[in-house]
Amino acid sequence: MNKVYSFASILIFLITSCTQENESAHTLDDIAREYVKTSLLIGQYDADFVDAYYGPDSFKPKENPSESEEFPKELLLQKTSEVKTALTDFIGLSDNQEELDRANYILAQLNAAEERIRIVSGETSDFDLESKQLFGVSAPTYDEAHFMEIIKKLESTLPGKGSLQERFQSLSKRFIIPVSKLDTVMKAAIAEARRQTKEHYPIPASEDFTLEFVGDKAWSGYNWYKGNFSSLIQINTDFPISIERVIDVGSHESYPGHHVYNMLLEENLYEKKGLIETSIYPLFSPQSFIAEGSANYGIELAFPGDQKIEFCKKVLLPLAGLDTTGITEYFHSLEMVSELNYAGNEVARGLLNGTLTEEEGIDYLIKYGFYSPEKAKQRIAFTKKYRSYVINYNYGKDLVKNYIEARGGTSDNPEKRWELFGQLLSKQFLPVNLKP
Ligand SMILES: [Zn+2]
Repeated sequence: MNKVYSFASILIFLITSCTQENESAHTLDDIAREYVKTSLLIGQYDADFVDAYYGPDSFKPKENPSESEEFPKELLLQKTSEVKTALTDFIGLSDNQEELDRANYILAQLNAAEERIRIVSGETSDFDLESKQLFGVSAPTYDEAHFMEIIKKLESTLPGKGSLQERFQSLSKRFIIPVSKLDTVMKAAIAEARRQTKEHYPIPASEDFTLEFVGDKAWSGYNWYKGNFSSLIQINTDFPISIERVIDVGSHESYPGHHVYNMLLEENLYEKKGLIETSIYPLFSPQSFIAEGSANYGIELAFPGDQKIEFCKKVLLPLAGLDTTGITEYFHSLEMVSELNYAGNEVARGLLNGTLTEEEGIDYLIKYGFYSPEKAKQRIAFTKKYRSYVINYNYGKDLVKNYIEARGGTSDNPEKRWELFGQLLSKQFLPVNLKP
């Protein structure tokens, strides 16, 4: 009797514990689905949150919020907190490294989502803390003396009258693409970048993109990834577009930039491995650091060294009906001006931390970043909208570059560079892991 009783109690215990386990433990796929649904819910209230989504329609919230509805900060934070708790529990129980990496990646994306929810609610941190919470890293700080050093070096490369900034602007104006030729010239640059990329990666045969020219935007170009290996690439024509922007857009927005990054993720993680979280790309997340950094470094892969100059001379400038005189000097000065790119971070830092006014920010961009007054104003508008996102372009590029080159992907070993770059674009990768 006693024996029978204890057998029965063991049985009851086993049944109860199994039931409890089923109720409390979630599979990582379950949690990933909740992460996607939560991100879509945030996107309903923050129009800039979801950059791309190509997962099931059934994951989207059933009801649209009414216009008068306030931003539901507490509700959204409660949702992110629930998914984070499930993830933390999972991490505590799993000993599978691949699963742990996946769980930690989703966790980092959710931490960023929480920071974004706070920002939209009006609770902001200082610039460095914000970028760390959103993108996983804080960018280095540079003072005015740093930019002055670079500017001094530029003096000798840009002879002529007027201030150095004016001399640069007048050289740049010589290479502005006539509006009537923009479509042809852009498509030629994209075709070349696509050809280079296809030589290195087996890109899906059905891949495609649509190119559109738009206006009245805070950004200069945008890739809207639609899923199924298709992108809508929009170029803002509010301001004249110089030849280097054509090269940039050709590769940054498309090959091997955003279009290729999204395709490789869709193919390798979503289709082959069934990782549902890949179907959503929240803009304010560590993923953007990899996306923007790799897209900017990718320009160098598609058009390495002086090849961009040669390509402009032989193909793009003749297509645009422009004289090639001075193009080499222009690209060499652009290389130095690109080192001034971090001036944009300092302006964003100043605006967000309340140490610079907008007017002072515009002056800073003109003086230390070599912006034209009109572009400086656009940059301020971009910074007000996207905030610390600005570090993704320059610091992201630098960390991606260092990561690839430290592993042998140097300019004299282009095959290795493409290989490492392709690997980076095909996995869940956190910015903190780019650091040496
Ligand atoms: Zn971009």
